[in-house]
Amino acid sequence: MQNLYDVIIIGAGPAGLAAGLYAARAKMKTLILEKDRTGGQIVTTNEVANYPGSIKEATGPSLVARMVEQAEEFGAERKKGNVVEVDFSEKVKIVKCEETEYRAKSIIVASGATPKKIGCLGEVKLIGKGVSYCATCDADFFTDLEVFVIGGGDSAVEEAIYLTKFARKVTIVHRRDELRAAKSIQEKAFKNEKIDFIWDTAVEEIKGDGIVESIVFKNRKTGEITEHKAAEEDGTFGVFPFIGYQPVSEIYKGHIELDKAGYIPTDEHMNTNVGGIFAAGDIRVKTLRQVITAAADGAVAAVQAEKYIENNFEE
Ligand code: NAP
Repeated sequence: MQNLYDVIIIGAGPAGLAAGLYAARAKMKTLILEKDRTGGQIVTTNEVANYPGSIKEATGPSLVARMVEQAEEFGAERKKGNVVEVDFSEKVKIVKCEETEYRAKSIIVASGATPKKIGCLGEVKLIGKGVSYCATCDADFFTDLEVFVIGGGDSAVEEAIYLTKFARKVTIVHRRDELRAAKSIQEKAFKNEKIDFIWDTAVEEIKGDGIVESIVFKNRKTGEITEHKAAEEDGTFGVFPFIGYQPVSEIYKGHIELDKAGYIPTDEHMNTNVGGIFAAGDIRVKTLRQVITAAADGAVAAVQAEKYIENNFEE
C-alpha cells in the first residue's frame, strides 16, 4: 500500500516530538502532523526551569527547536496538517487532513490541550486585539502599558512575572482570595513591585471597538460591578487569561474512549481502548502535565507502537 506509515503522530509538542524521535530511531516510517505551530504549549513559555538539563538560557522555543532537530535527524517526517477526521475501525488507520488523507499501522495521539477561555462577553471578539493567551508571543505589544492577567495558578502567576519585563503595571485578577500557584512562584510575585492583585473577582465583559478599551469586573463576595477603562494616554491595555487548559480531543469522540472532561484514558503503556491507537502527553488522563511527563509518554507510546506492529503486521 502506497504511503502507508508505520506510525502517524498527531501533534508536535514534547510528547509528539519525543514519540517521533523514538519511532524514527527504531526505523519506523514516521509522520508527525502538526496543525499550526510546532512545539505545542511549551513554545508559549519563556522559562523552562523544571525540565532536567534545561537551565538558565533555555526557553520553550529553544527546547522545541532542539527536539525537532533531533527527531528529524533520525528520519521522522513532519508535515503541516489539520486533522479533521479519523477512522480507526480497520486494521490500517486513516487520518484525514483538510486536503490530504494519510494511512498508518498505528497512531499516537499527542494533540495536547489548549488554553481555556473565560467565556465572558467580548473575549473572543478581541483576541489578538488586546486579549492574548501567550505572554511570550505578545508581551512586547504591551511595552509600557497596563496588563491584566486572569487566573491564580502557576501559569497565571509565572506569566504575570514575565509580563512585568514589558508592561508598566500587571494586575492579577483571581476569583478567590488566595492563589493556587506554587508557594515559590507566589513569593516572587508578591515581592514584585509591578504586580497588583484583585481578589474574589470574575471578569464579566471585555469591551472595545477593534481594540481592548475597558474590562468589567464583578466582586464574587459583594456582587459589586466595576469597570476599568484604559488610561487616555494609552488608549488600550492587555488581558491575558491563564485559567487552565482543555484537551484537543473533539475529533476522537466516538472513535476512542474519552473521559467526561475530554481527556483520553490509557494504561501505563499508553494504550487507548482501541488496538494500535496510543495517546501521549497532556491529552491523556494523568496527574502531572509537564514537559518531562509528556516526553516520557511519547517515548513509551513509540516503543509500544513498534511492538504492536510486530505482533499485528509482520508476516
Ligand atoms: P490551573 O492550575 O488549573 O489553574 C487555573 C487557575 O485559573 C486557577 O487559579 C483557577 O482558579 C482559575 N480559573 C479556572 N477557571 C476559571 C474561570 N472560569 N474564571 C476565572 N478563573 C478561573 O492551570 P495552570 O496554571 O494553567 O496550570 C496547569 C498545570 O500546569 C498545573 O498542573 C500547573 O502546576 C502546571 N504548570 C506548572 C508550571 C511550573 O511548574 N513551572 C508552570 C505552568 C503550569 P481556582 O484556583 O479558584 O480554581
